[in-house]
Amino acid sequence: MRLFLLAVALLSAVVARAADESIAIIGATVIHPEREAQAAVERDRTVIITGNRIAAIGPRARTRVPAGALRIDGKRKWVVPGLVDAHVHFFQSGNLYTRPDVADFNAVVPYRDEVARNKARLPATFKVWLASGVTSVVDIGGPFWNFEMRDEARKRGAAPRVAVAGPLISMIDRPKLDLGDPPIIKVTTPEEARALVARELAFKPDFIKVWFIYRPGDDLAAQEAIVKATGDAAHAAGVRLAVHATELAVAKAALRAGADYLVHSVEDEPVDQEFLALAMRNRVLYCPTLFVVMGYRYALSNTWRPTAAERRLADPQILAAMGDLARIPPEKLPERVAKAMAEAGEIDPSPVELRNLQTVWDAGIPVAMGTDAGNIGTLHGPAVFRELGLMVRAGLTPLQALRAATVNGAKAMGMERDIGTLAPGKLADVVILNADPLADVQNLSRVHRVVKDGQLFAPDELMRSLNGS
Ligand SMILES: [Zn+2]
Repeated sequence: MRLFLLAVALLSAVVARAADESIAIIGATVIHPEREAQAAVERDRTVIITGNRIAAIGPRARTRVPAGALRIDGKRKWVVPGLVDAHVHFFQSGNLYTRPDVADFNAVVPYRDEVARNKARLPATFKVWLASGVTSVVDIGGPFWNFEMRDEARKRGAAPRVAVAGPLISMIDRPKLDLGDPPIIKVTTPEEARALVARELAFKPDFIKVWFIYRPGDDLAAQEAIVKATGDAAHAAGVRLAVHATELAVAKAALRAGADYLVHSVEDEPVDQEFLALAMRNRVLYCPTLFVVMGYRYALSNTWRPTAAERRLADPQILAAMGDLARIPPEKLPERVAKAMAEAGEIDPSPVELRNLQTVWDAGIPVAMGTDAGNIGTLHGPAVFRELGLMVRAGLTPLQALRAATVNGAKAMGMERDIGTLAPGKLADVVILNADPLADVQNLSRVHRVVKDGQLFAPDELMRSLNGS
């Protein structure tokens, strides 16, 4: 029987297993990201998973392995909670054709075809996330079909948990993204905002999201009133308010208006005491998304190169398209892209964003790891390892970066009681690694097995099964 189960494990992405059967990870190093320094590391532990919950974690010598359990040798393995990407967009693929409002490649690939592809490809995109050890994602805004996407993820075993926002309630229009179910909808008054919130609440969103775009000359106070009306309507229904606000003055306005979740860094100047006080008052979550702007710059200057993790774990269809700029005739290139290609140079993370992450972290504001995956150059799945690397570059330890991606990610999901840490009673969302993630945060990409909701997956098998999805 045991050999048969192992054979099944090798043949399919999911290990066939009766619901009452257990998984035992025997003698591994367990990492508890909610703890500090050495207390976070427990060596030679056995983890027992029964059904979809963690049943026990204890010293190998004293932890009983249930009869019939599927045994995984934990020697030279590290066990961490399943990662959470707190900022993704499934309606976008990460390739060049996915944001015609930024770079219009309709002459090469019609945007309608791109979005249809992304929708049809959801089962594969779900698997790519799991293969990267990401067992939960927050899709923080997209078309109304985002809610169908969430249903689809819940129906499928081979998918991360998904929390979702509907269309972005926006200060500006994005007509090039409107195929009949636009991801971004402009409102001009508090009444329009409340009406749109009401439409979205019918689908039970996990967040209401505002795209708070302030341009010189705009009336910031009038915009803040719209955000407040949006937030009040969301809060009245028990739904949290997520806001895109990337300048200090705008982020403060968002916080005054009741933001629960800031989905990007403050990028224009250092955060100040007033910002920190407002953030504390709101108990806000802060998601730095350090890589996404770099992703655009690499991709649109044709200098995007895959990382080792992306070569193994990204959707091969998307990887194959990342070098398309070299093949597109010059006359079909959008002007800004031709310019970016001509001027391509060194691309560095924003020093202000790095510094703000450290300031916000030191102030005790919970920071969630999020990639903004789906934007041009930021690929679903392995982009998390780029983001984690930048968080460490900003000054976080690998343990702190892991905490952002687990403990604090669970807060973004609204599931802190059930996921984000490893303890008996928690949902069994677990990653087994081949290398120590506290020695190098990139070792989080060295995924041996992933358990999501008690189901065991092998990354290689998930990747091999993509085209059959
Ligand atoms: Zn986003």
